[in-house]
Amino acid sequence: MGAISIRNVVKRYGKGASANQVIHGVNAEITDGEFIVIVGPSGCGKSTLLRMVAGLEEISGGEISIAGRVVNDVEPSERDIAMVFQNYALYPHMTVFENMAYGLKIAKVPPAEIKTRVEKAAKILELGALLLRKPRELSGGQRQRVAMGRAIVRQPQVFLFDEPLSNLDAKLRAQTRLEIQKLHRELGVTSLFVTHDQVEAMTLAQRMIVMNAGRMEQIGSPEEVYLHP
Ligand code: ADP
Ligand code: ADP
Repeated sequence: MGAISIRNVVKRYGKGASANQVIHGVNAEITDGEFIVIVGPSGCGKSTLLRMVAGLEEISGGEISIAGRVVNDVEPSERDIAMVFQNYALYPHMTVFENMAYGLKIAKVPPAEIKTRVEKAAKILELGALLLRKPRELSGGQRQRVAMGRAIVRQPQVFLFDEPLSNLDAKLRAQTRLEIQKLHRELGVTSLFVTHDQVEAMTLAQRMIVMNAGRMEQIGSPEEVYLHP
């Protein structure tokens, strides 16, 4: 299903003499259902790599495929991925239900199916009692869960998380981390999670990719990475 293959991927911003190469030949084979954390200091290329997996950023060299299909050969509307950002902009005038349903409505999913999917996601995220509220009536953590709900209802092959916890306070961060772990246990969707926080990486990762200055320095379980640096 959602295996991800990253082969010799290179990224340059700009052209000619002023080009700035920010990713230098990254390789990784990610198994279907794995939870991978990409960790490294700010500016090392984590979100660039994630955006290339999402097909949001052109690749300068190499290839990325998901479930055997080259990302850039797939129409954006057919890409079976969902991304969760740190700035989860919810529609303020819509209820929680409507916020989660919106993308499916646009994709013309039948209303009964939308209802089933939203209710299932709300149950997993413990949002069942909040479906008729507006975003302003929610806490920060609840809003972040609605943002995750929007991703879940699309039933993607792959979840991409770009520092989704970095705007939350410490307590909420720990709590949301548990939610994400629970989500992964229940749905088993292949996940790529970007963070600069080593603790976050260690607690969430099945395997982690350690990046530095546009290169992949290590890939392995948290134990392997920290015992054999
Ligand atoms: P990280 O997510 O690890 O903080 P980024 O992927 O955001 O790193 O950035 C990697 C490098 O690429 C940085 O030097 C950054 O300035 C540069 N960069 C990121 N996006 C762009 C862009 N759109 N245009 C030019 N340079 C960019
Ligand atoms: P992060 O480190 O979380 O990726 P940044 O502040 O580096 O966040 O980047 C935020 C946005 O600015 C991204 O969309 C990125 O593509 C863009 N960006 C980052 N660095 C550059 C750059 N040197 N030139 C142009 N755009 C950039």
